[in-house]
Amino acid sequence: MENIQAELRVAEERYKILFDNIPGATAIYKGKEMEIVMANAAMLGFWGKDESVIGKTLLEAVPELDGQLFIDLLQQVFSTGETYSTKEAAANYFIDGKMQTFHYDFTYRAFKDGNGNIEGIIHSAADVTALVKERWRAALAEERLNFSLQSAAVGTWNFDAVDNTISLDKIGKQLYGMSDGDVFAFEQTLKNIHPDDVRDVHTSVLGCLKEGNEDHCNFRFRVLNPQDEVRWLQCTGKAVFNTDKTVQLFAGIVRDITKEIAGIEAQRKLQIQKDNFLSIASHELKTPVTSIKAYAQLLEKMLKREGDVQKADMVARLTGQVNRLTVLLDDLLDVSKITNDRLNFQRDYHIFSDIVNNSIDDIASEEFTHKVVTELNFMGSIYCDSTRIGQVIKNMLSNAIKYSPGRDQVLISTKQSGNNLLVAVTDYGIGISEENRNRVFDQFYRVSNTEAYSYQGMGLGLFISAEIIRQEGGEIWVDSEENCGTTFCFSLPLINNIR
Ligand code: ADP
Repeated sequence: MENIQAELRVAEERYKILFDNIPGATAIYKGKEMEIVMANAAMLGFWGKDESVIGKTLLEAVPELDGQLFIDLLQQVFSTGETYSTKEAAANYFIDGKMQTFHYDFTYRAFKDGNGNIEGIIHSAADVTALVKERWRAALAEERLNFSLQSAAVGTWNFDAVDNTISLDKIGKQLYGMSDGDVFAFEQTLKNIHPDDVRDVHTSVLGCLKEGNEDHCNFRFRVLNPQDEVRWLQCTGKAVFNTDKTVQLFAGIVRDITKEIAGIEAQRKLQIQKDNFLSIASHELKTPVTSIKAYAQLLEKMLKREGDVQKADMVARLTGQVNRLTVLLDDLLDVSKITNDRLNFQRDYHIFSDIVNNSIDDIASEEFTHKVVTELNFMGSIYCDSTRIGQVIKNMLSNAIKYSPGRDQVLISTKQSGNNLLVAVTDYGIGISEENRNRVFDQFYRVSNTEAYSYQGMGLGLFISAEIIRQEGGEIWVDSEENCGTTFCFSLPLINNIR
């Protein structure tokens, strides 16, 4: 007898170990009251209980189940014998001091005694809370994305490179002017595209799908709606490739940019009007200014001849001011020529040091405050437009003088470096801060600190100089340190140029 009891205990122990190690949570309830006969560690974990609940009814052990569906479902399985299975059911358990919701896939299966009567229920369950929450998060993220896209009137598209079809969402369809269905043959979408843009769209799409293309695609085109109104769309997206280089995904967004394009067009027209005005105004102003200069020079000569030195000197000053006005008008004219791509060059071979010396002479007749020190190490000739290059040098020299008040000299040097001629104009003046250094070559750019504004100028000289040097095949740059000085440099290519 004792042996039998001992064997029974061993068998029970084995059974318990087995039960505890069943993957997934399992519990066995007995009778209509659902007395807990067994519950493995996983199931106890779900409830937040320990083995002390064994022998209690399910409601005694887990009172928070009262009012939730489960007790009724268990009663139903107990009375009908029909297995009940469900997925992702929500259950509330009192865990860690608070009610929390979890999600389970579970099955209630009835088992019978030797007489065929239902004796109890086997409950097996799996916690799928993380999965459900992850799906919720993904759904929420998608909903938010859709909401944002819709609020911004952005459509989405997905190109199936195998079937050669495009799927469009609601806004995408509206933008393309497509109705029935969500998936369209690529050729079908091309029909709504402006005939002049079809080829470009085709080329852009093929470019995006080019094997291994890593770039985002971005192209604009016009679509026509049934009223023949033109609407501009912008498509952006990206193709993702499989390891065998076939297209895995090619998708992106599409948006209406008609208003932006209209704005750009209006701005372009305004710019053209402004350029035309500048060109006409500076041209018209030049004629009277040239006559004033001629008359002033004549008057100066006459006064000198009459021996009226004082008046002659005043007229000479007038001529000086007229010369400044001429330079300003020339700058304005040059800017409009640059904008219209009509800056003319009359090139020939010139001894470069002559160009430098002539420029210094021109400057010297107007600027008496600084001495221009020269270090001319390049003595060769160069094929260029000497007036234009002289214009660059004069601009750099007069800037060097203008922006170094209180100093008495500026330096100009030339030398050959490899296949280039290098020219540098140095001053010891106010300098240019790092952030402004590259912007000084922009049109109308003037350094906007109050000190710099007290200097006269229109912010055009360096813009014109940069364009001249670019068209002569060289480069222009600046080195500077604030309050120490500035060196403007340019290079001109010598290859096939030296004689
Ligand atoms: P501006 O007629 O105003 O001198 P520029 O195009 O010649 O026009 O120069 C643009 C700006 O660059 C100037 O307004 C000035 O702020 C800055 N700049 C040009 N040369 C110098 C220099 N040598 N030293 C300091 N700042 C300079």
